[in-house]
Amino acid sequence: MNIALIAHDAKKELMVQFCIAYCGILSRHNICATGTTGKMVAEATGLKITRFLSGEQGGDQQIMARIGYNEIDLLMFFRDPLNPKPHEAKEMDLLRLCDMHNIPVATNIATGEVLIHGLERGDLDWRNIVNPGSL
Ligand code: PGA
Repeated sequence: MNIALIAHDAKKELMVQFCIAYCGILSRHNICATGTTGKMVAEATGLKITRFLSGEQGGDQQIMARIGYNEIDLLMFFRDPLNPKPHEAKEMDLLRLCDMHNIPVATNIATGEVLIHGLERGDLDWRNIVNPGSL
């Protein structure tokens, strides 16, 4: 599976801890991330991560493009609900695109835990056999 990671600044440490905890599962998948999130997770875990631009420089859009090409199966996007971001409208576009393509998304660690366990159990394997765009 192709997994994308994004974390707002206030949630980056949480994302790092999450990825350390689930490093064994994540290591069996292809991971990509926005710039700073990817750097922090790669340094903390040793995971091989394809890094895009920083979110505010267009990293979100790079992930959106991959969703359009059906190259993302799961998005972990740990959001900071308290501090609005200047590029928040684009982030909403990203979530909208995930809904269009039926991409499972976690916007907080509680959902992230559910999805990562589901991933491990094979609950997302349908993505390999069904064209999500046809749902
Ligand atoms: P970053 O981007 O991982 O490069 O910080 C995410 C964000 O928009 O905060």
